[in-house]
Amino acid sequence: RVVVGTKVDQNHVNWVTAYNMLTGIRFTVSRTNAKLDRALTDADFDAKHKFSFDITGNELTPSAKYDFKFKDYAPWVFRHLRAKFKLDPADYLMSLTSKYILSELGSPGKSGSFFYFSRDYKYIIKTIHHAEHKFLRKILKEYYSHVEQNPNTLLSQFYGLHRVKIPYGRKIHFVVMNNLFPPHRDIHQTFDLKGSTIGRDFKEEDLEKNPRATLKDLNWLRRDLHLEFGEEKKRIFFEQMEKDVHLLQKLKIMDYSMLVGIHDLQRGNQENLRDKTLQVFQPGGDTPTDDTGPSGQGPLTRTPSKLETARKARELRQMVKQEKPVPMGQSSSRMPDTLEENTTKRDFIFYSDDGGFQATHEDNSPGDEIFFLSIIDCLTHYGTVKKLEHFWKGLSHDKRLISPVRPEPYGDRFIEFIEGITKSPEEVAREAASRLTV
Ligand code: ATP
Ligand code: CA
Ligand code: CA
Repeated sequence: RVVVGTKVDQNHVNWVTAYNMLTGIRFTVSRTNAKLDRALTDADFDAKHKFSFDITGNELTPSAKYDFKFKDYAPWVFRHLRAKFKLDPADYLMSLTSKYILSELGSPGKSGSFFYFSRDYKYIIKTIHHAEHKFLRKILKEYYSHVEQNPNTLLSQFYGLHRVKIPYGRKIHFVVMNNLFPPHRDIHQTFDLKGSTIGRDFKEEDLEKNPRATLKDLNWLRRDLHLEFGEEKKRIFFEQMEKDVHLLQKLKIMDYSMLVGIHDLQRGNQENLRDKTLQVFQPGGDTPTDDTGPSGQGPLTRTPSKLETARKARELRQMVKQEKPVPMGQSSSRMPDTLEENTTKRDFIFYSDDGGFQATHEDNSPGDEIFFLSIIDCLTHYGTVKKLEHFWKGLSHDKRLISPVRPEPYGDRFIEFIEGITKSPEEVAREAASRLTV
């Protein structure tokens, strides 16, 4: 399904959830940041703190527009992670809380996760399943030491793990991560690559309707595209990817992808895509014929009970009294033209060419594209997939199509695929020439 990002304003169905998420983040992150830095202890990895917010406020929490509960997980670990990823603490808070406006990237794909961009597009909030949440907590120590030993890791950068719950609502777990695609660059093509061909095809005819859709493995192969790196960058890229994938194999993770964004320097930014629409987005558009079965998470919103409806009406009245809605035109802030404040990102190799990793020729001279590369969706544990596979079998689907590949071969196939499509422009030309002479 193709979805255009929409502003989460006060009329949006998920406004209250979004507001609560941001209020909780602001409170808990400032609370941790206010303390003197200290070394991490083992207990920090298991830490969780629960806060109740209400309209009046109490000695611990400030007043909020709504009653809700907020849980903050391993705050010190994430504070240290944010520092390792060189985020500026003040900037992080600003991005995630200023004016409480985000854009919702999409309604549920296969996984049912929701995605929200921070107002400045630097961060993404992704709602995750309880199983993914538990799993992230379980592997947090290993993730942390991997980041420590591999500052240039290609794995998703996690900045926070939290939970919100409104009265009578269900628990919503979410992570804050980096938006791989920088706000100031048009991304001309996006691919989500797994190294599998089953179900990995975005219907080409749907591209007309949605030219910015995230394409998949078969679309990539059909276009005969390559990650165009000369020997030097190839070596750096492969080394890091292999280390990252080995960790994922060790932790028995699967179903992750290499997210690839391509900025064509010839085309540049003329299209100014983000001024016209928010990024067009296809959240987790995997079909059930994919390598893994579905994962059942209900939608964020469900039919509200009478009580909730009454409550909502009360909230709306309060909102009208207390706050003027932000006019739509004013709320769309213009994107910066350069990677200004984000310069610290340059310290990281895969983000060092204006936010990405620029193509190179065989002689290491720069090429025509900037690639944005990251291994995403890496919280699916093999055990969970197994359980879901059971469920699918019960529905008598073709087992061959949905039976999950184990984490070891999944990772090996992933590496093999990505390395296979990484070629300098000269290599590509030589191969084309030799095909002609044969
Ligand atoms: P599924 O489990 O069905 O594959 P999901 O809901 O777990 O989907 P992801 O696979 O994490 O979602 O992401 C879906 C899409 O969202 C990606 O293909 C990509 O287009 C976009 N996306 C995810 N993470 C990022 C990120 N860090 N930066 C930019 N875009 C992202
Ligand atoms: Ca995915
Ligand atoms: Ca997923």
